[in-house]
Amino acid sequence: CGIVGYIGTQQASPVLLEGLTRLEHRGYDSAGLAVLGGSGLKVAKRAGRVRDLSEGLPKRFGGKIGIGHTRWATHGPANDVNAHPHTDEASRVAVVHNGIIDNASALRAELADDGVHLASDTDTEVLAHLIGRSSAKTLEQRIAEALGRVEGTYGIAVAHADFPDRLVVARNGSPLIIGVGHHEMHIASDLAALVRYTTTVAHLDDGEMATVTAAGFTTYRLEASGLAATDRRAKEVD
Ligand code: GLU
Repeated sequence: CGIVGYIGTQQASPVLLEGLTRLEHRGYDSAGLAVLGGSGLKVAKRAGRVRDLSEGLPKRFGGKIGIGHTRWATHGPANDVNAHPHTDEASRVAVVHNGIIDNASALRAELADDGVHLASDTDTEVLAHLIGRSSAKTLEQRIAEALGRVEGTYGIAVAHADFPDRLVVARNGSPLIIGVGHHEMHIASDLAALVRYTTTVAHLDDGEMATVTAAGFTTYRLEASGLAATDRRAKEVD
């Protein structure tokens, strides 16, 4: 339902919680965060309000990179385990997702046959495992490979402990916006979550992916042959 992301010089979790609060009007049943810090990837998520998530957040939840989500359940009931972010078995990669993966049950069965333990009932979780199991060199290639297996709609944001300088986002049928700040970058599925921080934004197109670092962003088009660079620039919102 709602996606936020942050990478920069501030602690991520207060910024992400603020963004999620701004998306509450869209409706949701669960909320969660993942942050990347010195001790790796940390995830906090639960059914209920953003305020419940905020009040129950572990004391040590430091990290200047993170993603957040408000979920409107489509696959699996609203409970703590089904809340996003979802991770691979090693908890190296975290994914938040808006939309519906149509071939999730086939992919879940294939992963289970391969011995993967699926923690949740969601369609989204398959993406975390597919990215986590990819042996492609770059995070962007791993995500492109995973998205190549998926049918359906998505806006996603991904954090990976082995690539701690970036977030990667992609869209197909579900909005994703990148907000440019001063030595920091924001991500959101809705302008409402960004305008407090920046009015310089770039909207991804369907079939587009972006690498977002604290210094800026680069965009690609997902093609059968791989990733082709695109030249999307941020503009002032009017
Ligand atoms: N299909 C996903 C789920 O049920 C995402 C739903 C959403 O867009 O919030 O978890």
